[in-house]
Amino acid sequence: MGYQLTKTKAEQMFQKLSVTCDIFAPKLMEGEGCFSDTDIIRYGKVHSLDEIVWDKKSDYSFKEALLAINETLFYFTEDTTTVPKGPKKDILIFLRACDLHAVKRLDEIYLKNGFEDFYYARVREKAKFILMGCKETCKSGFCVSMGTNRAENYDAYLKVESDTVLLDVKCECMEQMLREAADGEEAVVCDVTPDYVTENQEKVTLPKQLSNESFGKDIWKEYGDRCIGCGRCNFVCPTCTCFTMQDIFYKDNPKAGERRRVWASCQVDGYTDMAGGLSFRKTQGERMRFKVMHKIYDYEKRFGYPMCVGCGRCDDVCPEYISYSNCINRLAKEENE
Ligand code: SF4
Ligand code: SF4
Repeated sequence: MGYQLTKTKAEQMFQKLSVTCDIFAPKLMEGEGCFSDTDIIRYGKVHSLDEIVWDKKSDYSFKEALLAINETLFYFTEDTTTVPKGPKKDILIFLRACDLHAVKRLDEIYLKNGFEDFYYARVREKAKFILMGCKETCKSGFCVSMGTNRAENYDAYLKVESDTVLLDVKCECMEQMLREAADGEEAVVCDVTPDYVTENQEKVTLPKQLSNESFGKDIWKEYGDRCIGCGRCNFVCPTCTCFTMQDIFYKDNPKAGERRRVWASCQVDGYTDMAGGLSFRKTQGERMRFKVMHKIYDYEKRFGYPMCVGCGRCDDVCPEYISYSNCINRLAKEENE
């Protein structure tokens, strides 16, 4: 159901909600950019609507609100293991349509890929998603080409228009949360339709006849010669799901410690290293090929749709100006030559 509220009332409700829920949204982190004296827009806990960056795409995605960059799986001593408790509070995540489509990709990998990941599942069941509309396209996104420019499966949609806030609430428990935060005050009921873009500057054509032969193309060596294997493209991607394990032994008692899982990148050295010195993808070209083909070919073969949601963050962040969207377009073009 759609509602119209004053910004002041919405702010009061938001602040109440932020006591009972952890609310994650894109916020400006001043001076925390990759280069000195630069800022970054990244997800963090917010307590006010004014903390949220509404007019720009976040540099990093919502993913870290569901899947911590660095997560302790269990603590160990010589003869005990203890699993840390899961989140107690509900989690509200503000995100855009492309990122909401990315949640579906994370769910496929962590919940429906032959097993259910205990740690992801217990965070995911607490999470509700609040859609942020897109009035205009970002520079590098190609969500329209990927069919992710619109999302319907949000729990709520929220739009701030100067002194007014428009809300569309789809889920009963969100309705309940908002009713409690509203303190009996009735909001004006109205029709609310989320903003979404119908055209991007970047347009991508997906190749239609990818096959195992596509793995042998010269294009991979060309990109590989340019890629420095920094892994930044993976860390900003809302659909990358790989992690590695680390056992940490405490200095004051080396027989105790914790096992953590930490985000990993298929582009960096060591990612495919095995015991005995075996390594599956030694060159950057092979790693680039793996990443691109995984996003638009391998994943699709298993789940029936591409993994990439066209957010464009990997293009934005690459220090070598490697354009993933251009790479896909080149694969499609080569098919027709
Ligand atoms: S591959 Fe690039 S464009 Fe696609 S979802 Fe990941 S970061 Fe976004
Ligand atoms: S961000 Fe660019 S240079 Fe770094 S690993 Fe990705 S493609 Fe290679």
